[in-house]
Amino acid sequence: MSEEKPVYKRVLLKLSGEALRGELPYGIDFKRARSIACELKEIHNLGVDIAIMIGGGNIFRGSEGVAEGMDRVTADQIGLLATVINGLALLDALEKEGLATRLISAIEIKAVAEPFIRRRVLRHLEKGRIIIFTAGLGSPYFTTDTAAVLRALEIKAEVILKATKVDGIYTADPMTDAAARRFESIKYLEVMQQELKVMDSTAISLCKDNNLPIIVFNLNQPGNIRKAVLGQKVGTRVS
Ligand code: UDP
Repeated sequence: MSEEKPVYKRVLLKLSGEALRGELPYGIDFKRARSIACELKEIHNLGVDIAIMIGGGNIFRGSEGVAEGMDRVTADQIGLLATVINGLALLDALEKEGLATRLISAIEIKAVAEPFIRRRVLRHLEKGRIIIFTAGLGSPYFTTDTAAVLRALEIKAEVILKATKVDGIYTADPMTDAAARRFESIKYLEVMQQELKVMDSTAISLCKDNNLPIIVFNLNQPGNIRKAVLGQKVGTRVS
Protein backbone atom coordinates (compact mmCIF):
# COMPACT_ATOMS: atom_id res chain seq x y z
CA MET A 1 0.00 0.00 0.00
CA SER A 2 1.18 3.54 -0.78
CA GLU A 3 2.66 5.98 1.78
CA GLU A 4 0.06 8.63 0.91
CA LYS A 5 -2.81 8.68 3.35
CA PRO A 6 -6.34 9.04 2.04
CA VAL A 7 -8.69 11.14 4.15
CA TYR A 8 -11.62 8.87 3.31
CA LYS A 9 -11.90 5.15 3.92
CA ARG A 10 -14.99 4.71 1.77
CA VAL A 11 -16.24 6.86 -1.11
CA LEU A 12 -19.13 6.83 -3.51
CA LEU A 13 -18.27 8.06 -6.98
CA LYS A 14 -21.18 9.38 -9.03
CA LEU A 15 -20.29 8.92 -12.70
CA SER A 16 -22.73 10.32 -15.19
CA GLY A 17 -23.31 8.46 -18.42
CA GLU A 18 -21.72 11.46 -20.12
CA ALA A 19 -18.41 10.56 -18.46
CA LEU A 20 -18.36 7.33 -20.45
CA ARG A 21 -19.29 9.07 -23.70
CA GLY A 22 -15.89 10.79 -23.84
CA GLU A 23 -15.61 12.69 -27.12
CA LEU A 24 -18.13 10.50 -28.94
CA PRO A 25 -21.50 11.98 -29.97
CA TYR A 26 -23.35 9.05 -28.37
CA GLY A 27 -22.71 5.79 -26.55
CA ILE A 28 -19.65 4.41 -24.79
CA ASP A 29 -16.04 5.36 -25.40
CA PHE A 30 -14.22 2.23 -24.21
CA LYS A 31 -10.86 4.04 -24.06
CA ARG A 32 -12.44 6.55 -21.66
CA ALA A 33 -13.84 3.72 -19.56
CA ARG A 34 -10.36 2.22 -19.35
CA SER A 35 -8.73 5.49 -18.32
CA ILE A 36 -11.33 5.94 -15.56
CA ALA A 37 -10.59 2.37 -14.45
CA CYS A 38 -6.85 3.18 -14.26
CA GLU A 39 -7.54 6.15 -12.00
CA LEU A 40 -9.78 4.05 -9.81
CA LYS A 41 -7.07 1.42 -9.50
CA GLU A 42 -4.74 4.08 -8.08
CA ILE A 43 -7.13 5.04 -5.32
CA HIS A 44 -8.01 1.41 -4.69
CA ASN A 45 -4.29 0.86 -4.10
CA LEU A 46 -4.44 3.55 -1.42
CA GLY A 47 -6.81 1.26 0.48
CA VAL A 48 -10.01 3.18 -0.25
CA ASP A 49 -13.31 1.29 -0.57
CA ILE A 50 -14.98 2.33 -3.83
CA ALA A 51 -18.62 2.22 -4.82
CA ILE A 52 -19.81 3.81 -8.06
CA MET A 53 -23.28 4.92 -9.10
CA ILE A 54 -23.39 5.02 -12.86
CA GLY A 55 -25.80 7.14 -14.89
CA GLY A 56 -27.25 6.53 -18.31
CA GLY A 57 -27.45 9.93 -19.99
CA ASN A 58 -25.04 8.98 -22.80
CA ILE A 59 -27.63 6.45 -23.98
CA PHE A 60 -31.05 7.58 -22.80
CA ARG A 61 -32.69 9.90 -20.28
CA GLY A 62 -36.33 9.50 -19.33
CA SER A 63 -36.91 13.18 -20.14
CA GLU A 64 -35.94 12.55 -23.79
CA GLY A 65 -38.71 9.96 -24.12
CA VAL A 66 -41.21 12.23 -22.38
CA ALA A 67 -40.33 15.01 -24.84
CA GLU A 68 -41.30 12.59 -27.61
CA GLY A 69 -44.65 11.90 -25.94
CA MET A 70 -43.72 8.70 -24.11
CA ASP A 71 -45.22 7.63 -20.82
CA ARG A 72 -42.88 8.88 -18.05
CA VAL A 73 -42.63 5.55 -16.25
CA THR A 74 -41.77 3.61 -19.41
CA ALA A 75 -39.26 6.28 -20.47
CA ASP A 76 -37.57 6.14 -17.06
CA GLN A 77 -37.39 2.35 -17.29
CA ILE A 78 -35.45 2.71 -20.55
CA GLY A 79 -33.14 5.14 -18.74
CA LEU A 80 -32.68 2.64 -15.92
CA LEU A 81 -31.70 -0.10 -18.36
CA ALA A 82 -29.23 2.28 -20.02
CA THR A 83 -27.38 2.54 -16.71
CA VAL A 84 -27.03 -1.27 -16.63
CA ILE A 85 -25.39 -1.19 -20.08
CA ASN A 86 -22.93 1.44 -18.86
CA GLY A 87 -22.31 -0.56 -15.69
CA LEU A 88 -21.29 -3.58 -17.75
CA ALA A 89 -18.85 -1.49 -19.80
CA LEU A 90 -17.27 -0.09 -16.63
CA LEU A 91 -17.17 -3.55 -15.03
CA ASP A 92 -15.21 -4.83 -18.00
CA ALA A 93 -12.75 -1.93 -17.82
CA LEU A 94 -12.18 -2.44 -14.07
CA GLU A 95 -11.71 -6.18 -14.50
CA LYS A 96 -9.14 -5.52 -17.24
CA GLU A 97 -7.21 -3.59 -14.57
CA GLY A 98 -7.33 -6.69 -12.38
CA LEU A 99 -9.83 -5.22 -9.94
CA ALA A 100 -12.44 -7.51 -8.39
CA THR A 101 -15.75 -5.80 -9.15
CA ARG A 102 -19.40 -6.55 -8.56
CA LEU A 103 -22.30 -5.22 -10.61
CA ILE A 104 -25.43 -4.47 -8.59
CA SER A 105 -28.80 -3.65 -10.09
CA ALA A 106 -31.79 -2.12 -8.33
CA ILE A 107 -34.09 -3.89 -10.78
CA GLU A 108 -33.98 -7.64 -10.92
CA ILE A 109 -31.82 -8.78 -13.80
CA LYS A 110 -30.26 -11.88 -12.30
CA ALA A 111 -28.28 -13.14 -15.28
CA VAL A 112 -26.37 -9.88 -15.44
CA ALA A 113 -26.17 -8.27 -11.99
CA GLU A 114 -26.66 -9.03 -8.31
CA PRO A 115 -29.65 -7.56 -6.50
CA PHE A 116 -29.00 -4.83 -3.95
CA ILE A 117 -28.68 -6.58 -0.60
CA ARG A 118 -27.05 -4.09 1.73
CA ARG A 119 -25.14 -6.52 3.95
CA ARG A 120 -23.83 -8.39 0.92
CA VAL A 121 -22.61 -5.16 -0.63
CA LEU A 122 -20.90 -4.20 2.64
CA ARG A 123 -19.15 -7.58 2.64
CA HIS A 124 -17.94 -7.03 -0.93
CA LEU A 125 -16.51 -3.66 0.06
CA GLU A 126 -14.79 -5.13 3.13
CA LYS A 127 -13.17 -7.68 0.84
CA GLY A 128 -11.83 -4.90 -1.37
CA ARG A 129 -14.23 -5.41 -4.27
CA ILE A 130 -15.36 -2.40 -6.23
CA ILE A 131 -19.13 -1.99 -6.39
CA ILE A 132 -20.96 -0.62 -9.42
CA PHE A 133 -24.54 0.33 -8.64
CA THR A 134 -26.81 0.35 -11.67
CA ALA A 135 -30.50 0.99 -12.31
CA GLY A 136 -30.53 3.88 -9.81
CA LEU A 137 -33.15 3.17 -7.20
CA GLY A 138 -35.15 1.00 -9.59
CA SER A 139 -38.05 3.45 -9.49
CA PRO A 140 -39.11 6.09 -12.01
CA TYR A 141 -39.18 9.80 -11.14
CA PHE A 142 -35.71 9.58 -9.55
CA THR A 143 -32.23 10.36 -10.83
CA THR A 144 -29.00 8.51 -10.38
CA ASP A 145 -27.85 11.48 -8.24
CA THR A 146 -30.52 10.78 -5.66
CA ALA A 147 -29.76 7.07 -5.91
CA ALA A 148 -26.06 7.86 -5.34
CA VAL A 149 -26.84 9.75 -2.13
CA LEU A 150 -29.15 7.08 -0.74
CA ARG A 151 -26.70 4.25 -1.45
CA ALA A 152 -23.82 6.33 -0.05
CA LEU A 153 -25.76 6.67 3.20
CA GLU A 154 -26.65 2.98 3.27
CA ILE A 155 -23.07 1.83 2.80
CA LYS A 156 -21.72 4.57 5.09
CA ALA A 157 -19.57 6.25 2.45
CA GLU A 158 -17.99 9.38 3.91
CA VAL A 159 -18.25 11.51 0.80
CA ILE A 160 -19.86 11.68 -2.63
CA LEU A 161 -17.39 12.35 -5.42
CA LYS A 162 -19.43 13.90 -8.18
CA ALA A 163 -17.48 13.68 -11.41
CA THR A 164 -18.39 16.31 -14.01
CA LYS A 165 -16.99 18.06 -17.08
CA VAL A 166 -16.28 21.33 -15.23
CA ASP A 167 -13.87 22.25 -12.44
CA GLY A 168 -16.50 22.55 -9.74
CA ILE A 169 -19.51 24.71 -8.95
CA TYR A 170 -19.61 28.15 -10.54
CA THR A 171 -21.69 31.26 -9.99
CA ALA A 172 -22.89 30.81 -13.61
CA ASP A 173 -22.26 28.36 -16.44
CA PRO A 174 -18.52 28.74 -17.18
CA MET A 175 -19.06 27.39 -20.71
CA THR A 176 -21.24 30.39 -21.60
CA ASP A 177 -20.35 33.13 -19.07
CA ALA A 178 -16.71 34.31 -18.94
CA ALA A 179 -17.36 36.13 -15.64
CA ALA A 180 -18.40 32.90 -13.89
CA ARG A 181 -16.46 32.31 -10.66
CA ARG A 182 -15.78 28.95 -9.02
CA PHE A 183 -16.66 28.31 -5.37
CA GLU A 184 -14.00 26.47 -3.35
CA SER A 185 -16.65 25.46 -0.89
CA ILE A 186 -20.33 26.15 -0.53
CA LYS A 187 -23.16 25.27 1.85
CA TYR A 188 -26.03 22.96 0.87
CA LEU A 189 -28.51 25.73 1.54
CA GLU A 190 -26.74 28.14 -0.82
CA VAL A 191 -26.81 25.51 -3.57
CA MET A 192 -30.53 25.09 -2.99
CA GLN A 193 -31.37 28.80 -2.69
CA GLN A 194 -29.31 29.81 -5.72
CA GLU A 195 -30.60 26.80 -7.65
CA LEU A 196 -27.06 25.92 -8.71
CA LYS A 197 -26.98 22.92 -10.98
CA VAL A 198 -25.08 20.43 -8.87
CA MET A 199 -27.57 17.66 -8.26
CA ASP A 200 -31.35 17.61 -8.26
CA SER A 201 -33.06 19.07 -5.20
CA THR A 202 -34.00 15.66 -3.74
CA ALA A 203 -30.36 14.58 -3.81
CA ILE A 204 -29.06 17.83 -2.28
CA SER A 205 -31.59 17.89 0.52
CA LEU A 206 -30.85 14.25 1.37
CA CYS A 207 -27.16 15.17 1.66
CA LYS A 208 -27.99 18.20 3.78
CA ASP A 209 -30.27 16.29 6.15
CA ASN A 210 -27.57 13.68 6.70
CA ASN A 211 -24.45 15.86 6.58
CA LEU A 212 -22.97 13.96 3.67
CA PRO A 213 -20.35 16.11 1.90
CA ILE A 214 -20.13 16.26 -1.90
CA ILE A 215 -16.99 17.09 -3.86
CA VAL A 216 -17.78 18.27 -7.39
CA PHE A 217 -14.75 18.00 -9.67
CA ASN A 218 -13.62 17.71 -13.27
CA LEU A 219 -13.12 14.11 -14.30
CA ASN A 220 -11.40 15.13 -17.54
CA GLN A 221 -8.42 16.36 -15.52
CA PRO A 222 -6.33 13.25 -14.80
CA GLY A 223 -5.48 12.74 -11.12
CA ASN A 224 -8.48 14.61 -9.72
CA ILE A 225 -10.13 11.59 -8.10
CA ARG A 226 -6.86 10.89 -6.33
CA LYS A 227 -6.56 14.51 -5.16
CA ALA A 228 -10.09 14.41 -3.77
CA VAL A 229 -9.41 11.19 -1.89
CA LEU A 230 -6.14 12.55 -0.45
CA GLY A 231 -7.95 15.64 0.83
CA GLN A 232 -6.10 17.98 -1.56
CA LYS A 233 -7.84 21.04 -2.98
CA VAL A 234 -9.92 20.10 -5.98
CA GLY A 235 -13.22 21.33 -7.40
CA THR A 236 -15.90 22.52 -5.00
CA ARG A 237 -16.84 21.02 -1.67
CA VAL A 238 -20.50 21.16 -0.63
CA SER A 239 -21.04 20.62 3.10
N1 UDP B 1 -33.70 6.81 -13.66
C1 UDP B 1 -34.85 6.50 -12.96
N2 UDP B 1 -34.74 6.23 -11.61
C2 UDP B 1 -33.56 6.25 -10.94
C3 UDP B 1 -32.40 6.61 -11.66
C4 UDP B 1 -32.49 6.88 -13.01
O1 UDP B 1 -35.94 6.45 -13.51
O2 UDP B 1 -33.52 5.96 -9.73
C5 UDP B 1 -33.78 7.00 -15.12
C6 UDP B 1 -34.20 8.41 -15.55
O3 UDP B 1 -35.00 8.30 -16.70
C7 UDP B 1 -32.87 9.03 -15.94
C8 UDP B 1 -32.11 7.84 -16.53
O4 UDP B 1 -32.51 6.75 -15.71
O5 UDP B 1 -33.01 10.06 -16.89
C9 UDP B 1 -30.62 7.95 -16.54
O6 UDP B 1 -30.16 8.42 -15.30
P1 UDP B 1 -29.53 9.89 -15.12
O7 UDP B 1 -30.25 10.86 -16.00
O8 UDP B 1 -29.48 10.18 -13.67
O9 UDP B 1 -28.07 9.64 -15.69
P2 UDP B 1 -26.84 10.67 -15.83
O10 UDP B 1 -27.40 12.04 -16.10
O11 UDP B 1 -26.12 10.63 -14.52
O12 UDP B 1 -26.03 10.10 -16.94
